[in-house]
Amino acid sequence: MRDTRPVLKADVEMLRHASELYTPKVFMLFEEEYLKAVECTVECSCTEGRAEYKVKYAGRGVGHHVWFESSYQAVECSCMKFEFVRILCAHAMKVIDKKNIKHIPK
Ligand SMILES: [Zn+2]
Repeated sequence: MRDTRPVLKADVEMLRHASELYTPKVFMLFEEEYLKAVECTVECSCTEGRAEYKVKYAGRGVGHHVWFESSYQAVECSCMKFEFVRILCAHAMKVIDKKNIKHIPK
């Protein structure tokens, strides 16, 4: 089952990397979040070291805060999806994409 690679909805490096790391079922959840990130907008409150971003879905009022530590590529989101589901949320993926990171951080 792990040898079967899923068909990607978008041929991008992040999804190719995720398809190598995750089982097909987990990959589908990851891909869903990735595609949601495309629709998000992001504003930065950048300072040295740890940057804070406000990310929200286009057309929706309330957003989430995402913190990014550039020295070791750590990302944290106020929605806490990763802490509960162990999959990066669309908000965190939007910030990772903005930082031009094309692989899932360790
Ligand atoms: Zn989030």
